[in-house]
Amino acid sequence: MNGQPVIVGAGAAGLTAALCLAPRPVTLLCHGALGAGTASFWAQGGIAAAVGVEDSVALHAADTIAAGAGLCDEAAVERIVASGPWAIEFLLGLGAAFATGPQGALALGLEAAHGRRRIVHAADATGAEIMRVLLQAVRRAPSITVIEHAQVRQLAVRDNILHGLHAMTPQGAMQIATSQIILATGGIGGLFAHTTNPRGATGSGLALAARAGAVLRDIEFVQFHPTALACGSDPMPLISEAVRGEGAVFLDQSGHAFMQGNDLAPRDIAARAVAAIYAGGGQVFLDARRVSPDHFPGMFAVCRANGIDPATQPVPVRPAAHYHMGGIAVDAQCESSVPGLFAIGEAASTGLHGANRLASNSLLEAIATARLAAQACAGRAQRNPVELPARRPVNRSEALPGIRKTCSENLGILRDAQGLARTMAELRPDIENSDAALLAWLMAHAAARRRESRGAHFRSDFPAAQPAFAQHSTSHISEIQAMSLAA
Ligand SMILES: Cc1cc2nc3c(=O)[nH]c(=O)nc-3n(C[C@H](O)[C@H](O)[C@H](O)COP(=O)(O)OP(=O)(O)OC[C@H]3O[C@@H](n4cnc5c(N)ncnc54)[C@H](O)[C@@H]3O)c2cc1C
Repeated sequence: MNGQPVIVGAGAAGLTAALCLAPRPVTLLCHGALGAGTASFWAQGGIAAAVGVEDSVALHAADTIAAGAGLCDEAAVERIVASGPWAIEFLLGLGAAFATGPQGALALGLEAAHGRRRIVHAADATGAEIMRVLLQAVRRAPSITVIEHAQVRQLAVRDNILHGLHAMTPQGAMQIATSQIILATGGIGGLFAHTTNPRGATGSGLALAARAGAVLRDIEFVQFHPTALACGSDPMPLISEAVRGEGAVFLDQSGHAFMQGNDLAPRDIAARAVAAIYAGGGQVFLDARRVSPDHFPGMFAVCRANGIDPATQPVPVRPAAHYHMGGIAVDAQCESSVPGLFAIGEAASTGLHGANRLASNSLLEAIATARLAAQACAGRAQRNPVELPARRPVNRSEALPGIRKTCSENLGILRDAQGLARTMAELRPDIENSDAALLAWLMAHAAARRRESRGAHFRSDFPAAQPAFAQHSTSHISEIQAMSLAA
């Protein structure tokens, strides 16, 4: 495998990149069994693409930019949104069974803040259908070597030159010498106590990249979903916005419809309203009694499995960390500031989402960026593999329960200077030994520097947007040392 491109992560982004590289040989590493532990598998609502007769790339781009609260990179939006029709053709070509209308054309759903019907879906299990066809194709592709149960622990980078990676497998340590690595490691929701993300989504790819000297961007922007099922399970099952689109409404513990008809408000506004009720000691429910179980078979099944019947009783919900807009800063080819190190999907900061994500744009980003990175890799020669520099003897023991608690308390829906400073102080001792602590520290630092509220980032001590902050933030590992020296 030495001297081949390596992809880390087997969600929609990693699998698509491996397929787009074919017939070029590629190694695909994933932490668990192939396809398991991915957010991609859990995606419900659908994938956004301008494929409707009344739609256009320009209209989809305009909605994306409006949602991004002044921080979208317009060239990136254009590039990724323009790939939407290709992404749907690619998935249909692999056999994806998306919902169709009476004439056999794709049935396009409408979601909040989309001006047109453009959500391609497969009932409320779109991610599972996309993963089904991607996994099938990857298993059949002779060019793809899959290594399951391999956790990448460190990138080998010296003087900003990428030499390979170190991973841990059940058989022991493994290293691969390569000058092309594509990180497709997903999101960061697992850093929070309440999340809809798989437990392993702790941003390990961002920490690997940061320790290798790569620049991260906009990492303070975390989208909190207002309606995760409050049934005591961890992670929390998601109740899609589409359920409110079909008439479900928020109720407080006394049955009051506190959103007053604005139940489909943007996610950040709805999440803050729900969080305010919990902060006051109350509880929030979603009344979905008027919603047909036929539209949401997955949601009804998961509620009933937890002893709640949405047809007859309100469903308890609370906000949860759901999606990371920020990530590893990448250029138009999805290459990071370390040459040869690429990032795609949720792990990347392409500039598509800005300060807030338009619903269903993330599966699109995963598929579109996978193709861009694969094209960039395919067009380059590999350097001759060299012997890897010795791995630092780091014990990456994770202080995860404590980190999740402090992130939820201080880096959640409402942030302020004191809470963020407390978080950084609490995390500082763990940074050397914990990738999760490193990433959470960098996120808290970015959130502390952004002294305004914008998109999904809300500072109770700076509740308005400030024109001076209408720009991207960047994060680099050297900030930690600089802060320590200043302290
Ligand atoms: C419940 C839920 C519903 C959603 N619904 C939608 C939706 O309807 N539409 C939409 O557009 N988006 C949706 N999203 C978001 C979307 O699913 C994700 O943004 C997208 O699937 C991310 O894909 P990915 O390939 O980047 O990462 P993932 O699918 O999360 O895959 C990450 C992979 O990286 C591996 N990995 C991580 N770290 C390491 C490591 N160190 N070493 C080895 N392997 C590693 C993991 O094991 C996994 O294989 C939803 C998300 C959730 C959680």
